[in-house]
Amino acid sequence: MSKKLLGNLQKGLLFVISAPAGTGKSTLTQMLIDEFPQQIVQSCSSTTRLPRPGEIDEHHYQFISKEEFENKVFNGEFLEHAKVFGNDYGTNKAEVEKLTSSGKHVILVIDIQGAKQLMETTDAIFIFIAPPNFQELKKRLIRRRTEDEETMVKRLMQAKVELDQAKNYDYQIINDKIDISYQVLRSIVIAEEHKKLKITQIGEINGN
Ligand code: ADP
Ligand code: 5GP
Repeated sequence: MSKKLLGNLQKGLLFVISAPAGTGKSTLTQMLIDEFPQQIVQSCSSTTRLPRPGEIDEHHYQFISKEEFENKVFNGEFLEHAKVFGNDYGTNKAEVEKLTSSGKHVILVIDIQGAKQLMETTDAIFIFIAPPNFQELKKRLIRRRTEDEETMVKRLMQAKVELDQAKNYDYQIINDKIDISYQVLRSIVIAEEHKKLKITQIGEINGN
């Protein structure tokens, strides 16, 4: 018997989400956080990329200099780090540890190189989100208006490389209809938490 839909574990789980740019990973992650604000949190990565209009430091990313990034790498502060489209990105180890220890599930929205590093070192659930087709991916990238033409072409070419890695993830979701994709993602998080719960006696569960 589960006492709550989510939030029954003493230590939260780590979910790693990767998807080609424009597929919908930020939208789907935000939907999860909106539904479960007390139980699910997205880790704030550090990056050397410049903020886009509207992006807030320490919220969307911790925007840091190249030198600060290299110091963090040297001091072993990252759980994983990678260069993506010419900029450095890293997941802060201490932040993830603090959040999971508080019982929250942590979502890392990271690229395939970072996910690959974690597959070898870290206990996490790996979810790949794919676009229904390239035409639709292009449309979504245009709609998002965060890329110029050249960057968009690069991102579409990179999408082909990324899709090839989908097979290494625990789950694959094709984000065609957003409501269906969200129900699948939500079900994965709920099922993965409940996989950890053990009944100790009638009316009691234990989840570490
Ligand atoms: P990502 O974080 O993977 O780069 P976003 O979440 O920013 O992608 O989504 C890119 C664009 O596509 C946004 O405008 C978003 O509203 C839209 N979008 C996301 N999922 C869908 C979907 N299933 N159908 C149509 N549009 C979508
Ligand atoms: P953007 O600059 O568009 O926000 O992100 C570019 C890419 O970097 C996306 O694929 C995003 O998931 C990835 N990314 C963001 N944070 C991290 C991180 O901490 N580590 C890694 N490896 N990739 C990240």
